[in-house]
Amino acid sequence: MKSGIAPTLINDPFGDPGLLVPFLLQKQALLFDLGDLSALSNGTLLKVSHAFVSHTHIDHFIGFDRMLRTHFGRNKTLTIFGPENIIQNVKGKLAGFTWNLVELYSESLTIEVVEVREEGLLKATFRAIDRFKLCDEKQEPFEGGVIVDNAVFSVRAAILQHRVPCLGFALEEKPHININKEKLESMKAKPGAWLNELKQAVSQGGQDSLMLTVPFEASGVVTTKDISFAQLKSDLVEIFPGQKIGYVVDSVFNDHNRKRIVKLVESSDIFFCESPFLANEAERGQARFHLTSRQAGTLAREAGVKQLQVFHFSSRHRSCREQFYNEAQDAFEGKYSSTEI
Ligand SMILES: [Zn+2]
Ligand SMILES: [Zn+2]
Repeated sequence: MKSGIAPTLINDPFGDPGLLVPFLLQKQALLFDLGDLSALSNGTLLKVSHAFVSHTHIDHFIGFDRMLRTHFGRNKTLTIFGPENIIQNVKGKLAGFTWNLVELYSESLTIEVVEVREEGLLKATFRAIDRFKLCDEKQEPFEGGVIVDNAVFSVRAAILQHRVPCLGFALEEKPHININKEKLESMKAKPGAWLNELKQAVSQGGQDSLMLTVPFEASGVVTTKDISFAQLKSDLVEIFPGQKIGYVVDSVFNDHNRKRIVKLVESSDIFFCESPFLANEAERGQARFHLTSRQAGTLAREAGVKQLQVFHFSSRHRSCREQFYNEAQDAFEGKYSSTEI
């Protein structure tokens, strides 16, 4: 397996924007934007641990209620990231329901909200057991754009201009370390905790001289042998670099956004970029604080991404689906002749 994630747009490019990123080795998924989620099953939504909301225009946030409905009554923590005012947006959503019976549920949902501001990350917690009262507000540093970083993935955010602050995101999957099963079988070693030790030593850059005790089983008799980390690493371990995924929606094309987007999504394996307007609608894009197909392609080219996927097309252009893709791809490949972006 070359990659541990399978990013997929939730809807048709003319539908509400949103990206689902399931992790293939864990029962976990990430969601970028909470628009129309009706295409996703409850089972899929229950795997979502973190939701990254670009901004709270209705096509990016109407799905909050569905997430809440699906996760409510479960002993889970759901973390929601969003731009300035997201804590108040979530508070307002939660205030729209009556929570007088929450103490009768044996399991309680916790919603953690992280508001991404230039000056820092403002965090707040809403617990079902406390009738979703806003509590534990605190501010943490916002350094290097990083908003979450754990053993499986990290996400960076950039605050972009869309007449309101709108977040662009870059997801980086951590490299994954596999044990080659065929080689393990041919070595005739007995699988066990030592394989985790080996993986851990690889991820922590262990010393080559480190010795691991490896069990072998023959005719029901288990014997052990000490083998060096260097030997085991070269015989059994495969390391796959993680993928980088860029996600940018609802942003005007200007110098501020251009610099931030290019830096954020630089060298992404796949760059998911909005393109509500066609190349000849640059003026309309400026007036509505959105990108055109050609601008999306230009950003992808400048950022040196490997693959561009445009979406969030304006519904007035339903007959121009291919034109969006072609114009974006031509700009990405540097093919259009005009200097006009
Ligand atoms: Zn939108
Ligand atoms: Zn918007």
